[in-house]
Amino acid sequence: MEEKYLLRHICEVCGRTEILTPEEAHSQGWDYPPKMGQFRIISPRTCPNCMMMDTVWAALVLQGKTLDELTDRQKQTFNRILSEPESILVVEEE
Ligand SMILES: [Zn+2]
Repeated sequence: MEEKYLLRHICEVCGRTEILTPEEAHSQGWDYPPKMGQFRIISPRTCPNCMMMDTVWAALVLQGKTLDELTDRQKQTFNRILSEPESILVVEEE
């Protein structure tokens, strides 16, 4: 299946947002599902410039934080990831 749909790629670290196909995002260096990781599974969601050490994934897995210890922004990211791909899918109006 060709991945022609558009996703709102939101860097969870710096907030950069770009609407791209999965193919475009991957070639530009984004770490984003479905090319990197899977929808609804916590893993880094980063733009080409940011480090995975600053992600929700790193906070939970590497630093051993609980959900309560996340920042509000990290909690938002967490919730957004759990409701992917609907939470980032861009519906084009024709
Ligand atoms: Zn970034």
